[in-house]
Amino acid sequence: MLYAWINEQKRAPSRKGERTTCLDCGGLLTSVMPVENVPHWRHRAGDCDSWSEPEGPWHLSWKEKFEVNCREIALRDGSSGELHRADVLVNGGEPDATVLELQHSAISEAERDAREAFYKQDHRMLWLVHIHSENSFLGHSFGLSLDFKSRPVDIDGRKFAIMTWMGSSKQFIEKWKRASAHVFFNAGPFIFYLAGPKVLARLERPLSRGEFALCQLSHDDFVRAVHGRDNPP
Ligand SMILES: [Zn+2]
Repeated sequence: MLYAWINEQKRAPSRKGERTTCLDCGGLLTSVMPVENVPHWRHRAGDCDSWSEPEGPWHLSWKEKFEVNCREIALRDGSSGELHRADVLVNGGEPDATVLELQHSAISEAERDAREAFYKQDHRMLWLVHIHSENSFLGHSFGLSLDFKSRPVDIDGRKFAIMTWMGSSKQFIEKWKRASAHVFFNAGPFIFYLAGPKVLARLERPLSRGEFALCQLSHDDFVRAVHGRDNPP
């Protein structure tokens, strides 16, 4: 985790040897100051969020677009007691409370389903999926697939374009097409909204396997969408 409460302030660690307590589990947190990664806190006895994943500059830069009191918010299922930290929670406690999950590493469809089931109990939910080529050809396949010219389509006044996934496996795009939360992709400086089941249902004919529809938006549009000030999502 990138933030913890220390001396009545929620912040990242600032030096080696800092310690504090996790307010969610009471566990001891120690500072980690890696040379090649962002400073973060480590639970001495294991993270209380079983979904916690290693984070880096990409997570940090997106979390910093939201107020510090919206970053890394622990949410607990009232009946099971299960706890997970939302990467970003805006409008907490309001009817339009929204969870944004920042996804840099690959996750399975089962993991995606589990996270949506947890967060969507009480929240609107958005994914921001990082498209990169650190461990695969994902970024390369995505770049080859982008085509906003051939098949533009207007859905509820929003300009989407239908394109075809150029990678050898269509699993990645099919998995995210089936998401029940809103899915955005971040590739380099660009952000795209992926048409999900509800948007696709409005097309004249269903998309075939490997086909998908994107709409491009600016960083500001995206942040507005997280705050629920844009439509859709
Ligand atoms: Zn904890």
